[in-house]
Amino acid sequence: MSEVLKNFGNSDPDWVAVVLFVRNLLGQLTVYTDEKKAEIQQEVFAELAKKDFSHTHFETVIAMLDMYVMQTIGTLELEEALTREKRSAAQLLNEMDEVINTMTGANERQNRKLDAFKERTVGVIESGKDKSVIVAKVRDMFQELIIEFKEEAAELHARAKMLERTANFDPLLTELHNRRAFDAYLPEVVSIMDKEPSPLTVMMIDVDHFKTVNDTYGHQAGDDVLRALARIITAHAIQYRGFAARYGGEELVIVAKGLPPDVATLRAEAIRRDVEQYDFRIRTDGKLAEKPLKFTISIGIAHWQEGWDAGRLVRAADMALYDAKNRGRNMVCQADCEQ
Ligand code: GH3
Ligand code: MG
Ligand code: MG
Repeated sequence: MSEVLKNFGNSDPDWVAVVLFVRNLLGQLTVYTDEKKAEIQQEVFAELAKKDFSHTHFETVIAMLDMYVMQTIGTLELEEALTREKRSAAQLLNEMDEVINTMTGANERQNRKLDAFKERTVGVIESGKDKSVIVAKVRDMFQELIIEFKEEAAELHARAKMLERTANFDPLLTELHNRRAFDAYLPEVVSIMDKEPSPLTVMMIDVDHFKTVNDTYGHQAGDDVLRALARIITAHAIQYRGFAARYGGEELVIVAKGLPPDVATLRAEAIRRDVEQYDFRIRTDGKLAEKPLKFTISIGIAHWQEGWDAGRLVRAADMALYDAKNRGRNMVCQADCEQ
């Protein structure tokens, strides 16, 4: 809006209000014919073109506008039009109130801004004079405030998103949820099992002889192996909307809902095979190694049983993983439900 006045070399709010009134609101007043409106606009813009933005000139222009108003003040239609303007200003205030309500809990700075806005608006409305510029002024102030809030809200939204990522996702294996997210997720899923029973599987995944990988190729290469593993696991889990997380260290976990137990077991076997066949190359100074670094994983599987809580389900998967390690690694084992 102030762009309009920049052309006149001025951005004083009073003058902005005059321009807004003449340019926008005048058009909405039904008391004037189109020719009359054009005439008023021309005269006011001629005054603005003088580039005299002194207070005296402002008074002159307002007096001019008043004159137009006075000419028709006797008509009921104008009275109504002015009432409408006031009503529309009041409506703006109501809208502001709504915004204020939805923003309860907003920080103090916002509250101070809103208070200041309210004060200014009420001031403008109560001032009584320059009735015709009230709506223009309020609208201008309102828009200014909304823009500020929008910017602030966008910033807060971005910050909240970032916080959410930090809170729920693993910093090294960025596509995986972290342990905290897993600990929150599983009990919630288990808690609705009594009401809406459906198959629920936990796959506990652990890299075989990972210490050796670290010892032989270095910790950095170990991290790269974990990243590759996280990508494979995510690609699999995504296919059945599984919840993939880093349980701790080089131990990852998938929670699969709605897969029949035998299907879930086949899915786990598919992951194991993909990892075994994966052609992982260490990169040193940007160059890939000539030979692949082969690594394998063991998976312990547990299917939820009636009466089990989240802890029991994880323990069962852990024991199955222990079995897989004992039986020679690079394999998928199921929990013995009798345990
Ligand atoms: P096992 O087959 O029995 O699982 O043998 P393992 O060597 O993998 O034994 P274990 O699971 O006990 O050892 C895990 C090792 O993984 C120990 C730790 O140094 C390493 N490790 C854990 N987290 C990370 C990580 O974020 N990066 C790297 N590079 N190494 C990790
Ligand atoms: Mg291991
Ligand atoms: Mg381990």
